[in-house]
Amino acid sequence: MMMDTQLTLDSMIKRTEQYFPKKEVISRTQIGVQTFTYKEIVSRMKRLGSVLESLGVKKGDRVGTFAWNHHRHLEAYFSVPSIGAVLHTINIRLSQEHLIYIINHAEDKVLLIDEDLLPLIESIKDELNTVEAFVVMTDNETLPGTSLQPVYSYEELLDKAESTYEFSAEIEENDPAGICYTSGTTGKPKGVVYSHRGIYLHSMAVGMKDTIGLSESDIILPVVPMFHANAWGMPFAATWMGTTQVLPGPNMTPKIIAEMIEKYKVTFSAGVPTIWLGLLKELEQGSYNTSSLRALLCGGSAAPKGMIHTYESKYGIPFLHGYGMTETSPLVTVTRIKSYQTDLSVDERLEILSKQGLVVPGIEIKVVNENGEVQPNGKDMGELLIRGPWIADSYYKGDRNSDAFQGGWLHTGDVVTVDEEGVVKIVDRTKDLIKSGGEWISSVDLENAIMAHESVFEACVVSVPDPKWQERPVACIVLKDEPQHQITKDDIIEFLRPQFAKWWLPDEVLFIDEIPKTSVGKFLKVKLREQVEKQLTL
Ligand code: ADP
Repeated sequence: MMMDTQLTLDSMIKRTEQYFPKKEVISRTQIGVQTFTYKEIVSRMKRLGSVLESLGVKKGDRVGTFAWNHHRHLEAYFSVPSIGAVLHTINIRLSQEHLIYIINHAEDKVLLIDEDLLPLIESIKDELNTVEAFVVMTDNETLPGTSLQPVYSYEELLDKAESTYEFSAEIEENDPAGICYTSGTTGKPKGVVYSHRGIYLHSMAVGMKDTIGLSESDIILPVVPMFHANAWGMPFAATWMGTTQVLPGPNMTPKIIAEMIEKYKVTFSAGVPTIWLGLLKELEQGSYNTSSLRALLCGGSAAPKGMIHTYESKYGIPFLHGYGMTETSPLVTVTRIKSYQTDLSVDERLEILSKQGLVVPGIEIKVVNENGEVQPNGKDMGELLIRGPWIADSYYKGDRNSDAFQGGWLHTGDVVTVDEEGVVKIVDRTKDLIKSGGEWISSVDLENAIMAHESVFEACVVSVPDPKWQERPVACIVLKDEPQHQITKDDIIEFLRPQFAKWWLPDEVLFIDEIPKTSVGKFLKVKLREQVEKQLTL
């Protein structure tokens, strides 16, 4: 038998401290960009551990963060779990109602808050039932005036903290390390608890060459927020591997991202499609050297084929498309071109890259139809079910036997097909599929096709009720700014006609200024559907 050593986060930073003290974390905050070595960062992590304990945080307690992507947030990522507490990364873009709900539901004892985000917490402070201390993460010497009580300065506490403190909590690998709530676009947010073991194994998966291959030699820039499924696990894996991290801080724009990629010779970055569409616009307008990039990872919603093609063909930037959920830590699939597929035509290659990819080692998937029967590869679509060591088996304070976790599998609510090579393609979310005359239409396929039109910036397809067909698709399109891109409904329909069966073509094409987005930058279809229905009944 092998040794039963515990897979815990404190052991990960021991490695960083020992082997990568000189490597760097570059962090953009309110006052500009600061650089820290991992030696400094780990030392600050330990002091934060001592601070939290002196504030009364005990094993199992939840500590919330309300922050952008920067070094202090990274410190909390390891410090909180290393004293045996649970890191609750709060989505700063949630509604007041949801913020109150999740902070109370998680029973956060201490909140670490960015200075510029204080007003949001101040506005709900009277509704928070469990918070005993507010710690402000600021670069300023003095604390801003605030109605929060008791309130402390992060830096002041760190300055005063015991400098010889070492993490010594008794932690077992199945203890909780983190909690993150789903964004709650339908219903109340649900808490997903990450174990030390889950994060540890997920970090190993993130480092595999056949997934996203995060390595010591990378310089990563996680655009995906550290409150969105742990920035897809990158801060954990990168710290462990000694990877240079460039943390883009508050209110980043495509311009800031492009400048940081050029200046710090970033090799790998990750974000949702909206981010990459924005960056593409910036690259088209400005002049940036992005040759250091070995890949951009896109996930969270489907990456449009046209966008992948432009990045690859015009800028020589390889694109990785990944799929996952808050419930899955999140890595489940990543696009890979297999070694025997290198001679494919551009179109065939793009076809593979625009799908969501192959399941990563360590995770199992199956696709089932409405009766729970497994669909063979290459055949019909069905719901994707997932299981593995970094997949949630329940929601926090929830019922393990709820529909989402029946039979020991996570039921994703995503409708997929899997081809003969095993490549998963997300057809739609169950609730976004359009049922027309008893047949399914994939809104994602239509969106992808429309976004390949040269005049289209973004496109979102939703269903509207129809007396004859039950539901029909309506396309909502944001055009590119320039005058040559002023196209019509007919232009779009004619563009789609050769690609789809007639009954798939949208009944209406609406040109709008903006597509409503969720707190993590995905199309907010529920809201768009309401807008469309209103507009069409006018
Ligand atoms: P939320 O559920 O709150 O929107 P998540 O980030 O957990 O936040 O969302 C997970 C969902 O996002 C998946 O169930 C799937 O529908 C969608 N998704 C994630 N990655 C992709 C992708 N690459 N392509 C298409 N859809 C994706």
